[in-house]
Amino acid sequence: MESKPRIVILGAGYAGMMTTKKLMKKLGKEEAEIVLVNKHNYHYQTTWLHEVAAGTINQNQARIMISDVISPNRVRLIYDTVKEIIPDESRVVLENSELTYDYLVVSLGFETNTFGIKGMDEYAFFIEDFESSRLIREHIEYQFAKFKYDPNPDVTSLAILVGGGGFTGIEFVGELVEKVPQLCRKYDIDRGQVKIIAVEAAPTVLPGFDTDLVNYARKSLQERGAEIREATKIQECTEEGFIVGDDNELIKAGTIVWTGGVTGNSLLAKSGFELTKGKVTVNQDLRAPGFENIFILGDCAWVMNKETGRPYPPTGQAAMQHAATCANNIHALLHHEPLEEFIFHDKGTVASLGITDGMGTILSGTKLYGKTAAAMKKVVDDRYLFLLGGPKLFLKKGKIRPF
Ligand SMILES: Cc1cc2nc3c(=O)[nH]c(=O)nc-3n(C[C@H](O)[C@H](O)[C@H](O)COP(=O)(O)OP(=O)(O)OC[C@H]3O[C@@H](n4cnc5c(N)ncnc54)[C@H](O)[C@@H]3O)c2cc1C
Repeated sequence: MESKPRIVILGAGYAGMMTTKKLMKKLGKEEAEIVLVNKHNYHYQTTWLHEVAAGTINQNQARIMISDVISPNRVRLIYDTVKEIIPDESRVVLENSELTYDYLVVSLGFETNTFGIKGMDEYAFFIEDFESSRLIREHIEYQFAKFKYDPNPDVTSLAILVGGGGFTGIEFVGELVEKVPQLCRKYDIDRGQVKIIAVEAAPTVLPGFDTDLVNYARKSLQERGAEIREATKIQECTEEGFIVGDDNELIKAGTIVWTGGVTGNSLLAKSGFELTKGKVTVNQDLRAPGFENIFILGDCAWVMNKETGRPYPPTGQAAMQHAATCANNIHALLHHEPLEEFIFHDKGTVASLGITDGMGTILSGTKLYGKTAAAMKKVVDDRYLFLLGGPKLFLKKGKIRPF
């Protein structure tokens, strides 16, 4: 009997999970074997990691057991770390085994890019995955406990320094301005003793965002006690804090978090793919150039917008749309049909600024602020839970509580 073609999906993030779900629907059980490989037995919501890092949500709300939403009877689930992809041999090396494939989907997400800033890798925390985010939460609380316990406490140990005032940095500061007062109450510390400082090299935070939205975000965070340092270049990160600007000012802090840049998973380079800024410049059908059977999705893919000549920004929204095109194209390959081109449908971008504040645009560019934006952000988050695991998952992990 002829064996079924094997589709191997690497990484169970937004792109990997949605590709798997879509393939399960599109393909009959006998048509192909589907294998999903992930480092952990859980999928985490990358777009909620700033909340995990600040400690404003129960961390377990941000992770979902993969087998709760993908049946192991239908998909072979392998919990292992990918070490290398060998495209010329259609082979993937895992930490504990090896796999061959007929079709490969690479959706291994992002890694932090420190742009070579001295000391950043050594001394800063990164909001990179579930574990690294949980560590930040624990570290911040430890600083509060230590401050209270220490007979000669140093007030700068309570300060939290955020490098990078982009989307992730600003969302994280939005959570911190809500979490810090809670910690101050818990540890009986005066709120005025705790500094939250965001440092951005560009002239404004949220570079590339609409000016009204940027002004709203800055004002909202400043009013709740955050310091926003714009046009401030980080020269170096040390154990004590950031050295910034031409006069080498030292900003001291007990917690240093770098959110200033991401790039594609370093396995892409290790596996010999041709890269643009750490990502694979994919063809319009999302395949890696030169490989008929390899799709690269999500934050690993450099997808050009033909109209603007610029790449689409790496977002969860784009990763999920990549998944739909990829599943259609694998189905097309199996049925000897023409492949479709990826077209991005921009549904807008909303940033949270804490639990009840936010700002952003939706669909036609309509701007949202405040509670409306915060509510819309929760709708977007919960919509994903619905798509992934239906009403059961929404009721278990959703942010909007129906009762
Ligand atoms: C704090 C934060 C907030 C964000 N907010 C938004 C937002 O509001 N809206 C939006 O659209 N986008 C947002 N983004 C961006 C968005 O999260 C990413 O673009 C999206 O997660 C990319 O999806 P992905 O599937 O490519 O990767 P990911 O979702 O990161 O998944 C990658 C998966 O691969 C696994 N993996 C990695 N390496 C290995 C390995 N070697 N072996 C096995 N498994 C591995 C990981 O464990 C993970 O499960 C945010 C990002 C961050 C960090």
